[in-house]
Amino acid sequence: MRYSAFALLANAFAGQRLWKPAWRDADPRPGYDAIIVGGGGHGLASAYYLAKEHGLANIAVLEKSWIGSGNAGRNTTIIRSNYLLPGNEAFYEWSMKLWEGLERDLNYNAMVSQRGVLNLYHSDAQRDAFARRGNAMLIAGADAELIDANAVRRMVPYLDFEQARFPIRGGLLQRRGGTARHDAVVWAYARAASERGVDIVQNCEVTGFIREGARIVGVETTRGPIRAKKIGIAAAGNSSRVAALAGLRLPIESHVLQAFVSEAVKPLIANVITFGAGHFYISQSDKGGLVFGGDLDGYNSYAQRGNLPAVEDVIASGMALMPAIGRLRLLRSWGGVMDMSMDGSPIIDRAPVDGLYVNAGWCYGGFKATPASGWCFAHLIARDEPHSVAAAFRLDRFATGRLIDEKGQGPHPNLH
Ligand SMILES: Cc1cc2nc3c(=O)[nH]c(=O)nc-3n(C[C@H](O)[C@H](O)[C@H](O)COP(=O)(O)OP(=O)(O)OC[C@H]3O[C@@H](n4cnc5c(N)ncnc54)[C@H](O)[C@@H]3O)c2cc1C
Repeated sequence: MRYSAFALLANAFAGQRLWKPAWRDADPRPGYDAIIVGGGGHGLASAYYLAKEHGLANIAVLEKSWIGSGNAGRNTTIIRSNYLLPGNEAFYEWSMKLWEGLERDLNYNAMVSQRGVLNLYHSDAQRDAFARRGNAMLIAGADAELIDANAVRRMVPYLDFEQARFPIRGGLLQRRGGTARHDAVVWAYARAASERGVDIVQNCEVTGFIREGARIVGVETTRGPIRAKKIGIAAAGNSSRVAALAGLRLPIESHVLQAFVSEAVKPLIANVITFGAGHFYISQSDKGGLVFGGDLDGYNSYAQRGNLPAVEDVIASGMALMPAIGRLRLLRSWGGVMDMSMDGSPIIDRAPVDGLYVNAGWCYGGFKATPASGWCFAHLIARDEPHSVAAAFRLDRFATGRLIDEKGQGPHPNLH
């Protein structure tokens, strides 16, 4: 059924009894043309675009838990395309364009809100780096504005401009950046994929791969073996564990990232703001809570929970930027498992074993990539060649040296 003002009205008069389940909770069938492992945003978007753009009808998404139980439902919902390097910027700008048409395409209110993303700078060197980044964004067709301290003060007067240890000198503003409601994005893709015949199979963990000679021809799951001509892994924080079942060792480490939400307050923060002198970002949800986060916990883990030192670090950065948040009570915090690649950039590529495809290494910026990641992974699986905007996300770049080291941090996943 299509969502519309008319559907709302009709249900209002019918005691809300006309609504149908948004997607089919399918049982697995013995075989498919394509299987996607992982029912997060990337997996569901991949299945949707496989069906919509490439005409594949016989597809399953296998999710070990419930869809959106991973990072898709745990992130701080920021979307942006403010990248510097050519391998990245065209991809993230394509994602931004897909976000801009997403709700209409999927007939779903994903609360895409282009409220602007403001990256603050605190030194001349940082301003120069941001000017360079802004120019790279403009060249790639994105929007970017370099603004000075007075313009920042007019936008966000409640930041610490007077006593700050790291005075704010200005910011790089991407007005088209913003937020989207993360779990609505999951439900939107699930519903749209299901409408096109995709089987969404929950509580179905992939526990192994079935080989015939050199080719992978299916998966072992907790709900029995399932065969498929092509299998894509989109398991985010568990990518390395799932790939290991196929004998692959990915250049990925898993780290915990925490997020926090305060009690609800009246509208205070209109944009997304990131601190340039520490790792801290903050926005305000439509319910009023301040949503914020910062650095990784800094050690490897597959646990979806964090530890107190990272909490202290994030809150200290927040207090340095915006002392007023010290008056707020923290409502909730949670953690997700990040698939941190060695250069901080993702992988969308064929695996070095026939029949298998890898979508991984999203680090802590993969939510904004969801539409383009699905689009490009579907393209790769359907056509066996990379999409032009994702052509740099090769698995062998770690062997050939063609790294996409956006932050220039070297092979230190905990720093990207
Ligand atoms: C606290 C936090 C804040 C973040 N903030 C942002 C942000 O503001 N902006 C941004 O762009 N990104 C952000 N991210 C990153 C972003 O959430 C992830 O990069 C992105 O969600 C990963 O892709 P996904 O949605 O497909 O992952 P997931 O939702 O994790 O999907 C992977 C799925 O695979 C399933 N799976 C794993 N193993 C198996 C198996 N063996 N069999 C079957 N299924 C399996 C998991 O259960 C999971 O549902 C944040 C992440 C966290 C944790």
